[in-house]
Amino acid sequence: MAAKSMDELVSLCKRRGFIFQSSEIYGGLQGLYDFGPLGVELKNNIKQSWWSSMVYERDDIEGLDASILTHAKVLKHSGHESTFTDPLVDCKKCKSRHRADHIKDKCPVCGSNDLTNPRPFNLMFKTSVGPVDNDSNIAYLRPETAQHIFINFKNIVDSTSRSLPFGVAQTGKAFRNEITPRNFIFRVREFEQMELEFFCEPGSDKTWHKYWLEERLAWWERQGVKRENIQILDVPCEELAHYSKGTYDLMYKFPHGLEELEGIANRTDFDLGSHSKNQSELNIAAKTDINENSNARLAVQNIESKDWVVPYVIEPSAGVERAFLAILNEAYEREVLEGDKERIVLKLRPHLAPIKAAVIPLKKNDSKLVDLAIEIKSNLQRSLKKKVVLENTGNIGKSYRKHDEIGTPYCITVDYESIDNKTVTIRNRDTMNQEVIKIEELIEKLKF
Ligand code: ATP
Repeated sequence: MAAKSMDELVSLCKRRGFIFQSSEIYGGLQGLYDFGPLGVELKNNIKQSWWSSMVYERDDIEGLDASILTHAKVLKHSGHESTFTDPLVDCKKCKSRHRADHIKDKCPVCGSNDLTNPRPFNLMFKTSVGPVDNDSNIAYLRPETAQHIFINFKNIVDSTSRSLPFGVAQTGKAFRNEITPRNFIFRVREFEQMELEFFCEPGSDKTWHKYWLEERLAWWERQGVKRENIQILDVPCEELAHYSKGTYDLMYKFPHGLEELEGIANRTDFDLGSHSKNQSELNIAAKTDINENSNARLAVQNIESKDWVVPYVIEPSAGVERAFLAILNEAYEREVLEGDKERIVLKLRPHLAPIKAAVIPLKKNDSKLVDLAIEIKSNLQRSLKKKVVLENTGNIGKSYRKHDEIGTPYCITVDYESIDNKTVTIRNRDTMNQEVIKIEELIEKLKF
């Protein structure tokens, strides 16, 4: 059974240290969140699983980590300066502000229908680079990580000698001044993206588009997001972004409704074409504006014909926060136990769990037990290079409940047998079954 409400997830996240509102002690800043001790682990594990599937488990993808502050010309030629806008309406009565496509004909705050006409509102955060603040040194906080992959295309091809098809993967922060951030971490103003730009020959793009759709669905399933909870939306032509020839949106049943989890777009040759010099010498299919600022030709040369080809791009783009929320929602269960008892359990896939194991001495005041527990915990954490914790409360039942709720796959109890026979009792989070194993077997058991 998935979470009943967003409130349950929000409460768990705060109580256990997954997510806090940003700047909370000063009243909070809307649309911004901080990831606490458990949140940062889950977030890192999600990104690591994505990176591994893209960069280590295949041979055709390179990585990139580009700057967040972005040259204004990049976002001029990408189309963001002119088109990255949402229609905005103001309520003349209560002065609240809303996205026109999110409301019907009344103000959702006060009910008034005295609204302004929709006006475009650019979602980018603007700043300036250097000591003087004027129009010539405007920079933006990037609204997506993708553009830096496009503008580094030549650097990457020259330094790696890659030929088509190949991809470039990047994870990192993106910023959008959303008019109405809402639904916890679903729509925020600062978030992280996991984006792949996969470059292929024009004409092979449709096949690669379908291929990446299947790859991504399989990845989500490996993170515990069930296939039946994702709907594929083939975005209608009139709703496509300016760069896209076709987009599949993976729509997930979030606690607040069916919404986009990831977009998989066919960006054609729009981006490389838009950022290229001498565009008229290239056979660019997309409609691009003239670029007199770029000093690079973002194309590859066909070795036999010597013709320059501007690759097509397939882009699977997922948000880390939305992944976090979907994974949490899928894993969250309220189980009824014998004797009308209840437990909340987070059935996270073990590779995503923030803490891999909790080591619990049977008695908190017995120094022999506690010392051995500390030694086991330290050895495991050092070997696994993942978080393992000591629970020295003296209350095993309470420790089990806490670790069920935060998704720790195993609890390890250290008792007198541990001292005499070098064995421990290990309890499985999901089945609650316990078995006795040798201390030396623990590392193998916890390698996820
Ligand atoms: P939406 O229609 O929900 O605003 P979008 O279509 O603008 O999203 P894209 O530009 O395709 O989103 O961005 C790719 C991914 O980045 C999205 O699928 C989503 O997971 C994530 N994302 C985009 N905007 C936000 C946001 N404000 N907060 C959290 N994640 C976001």
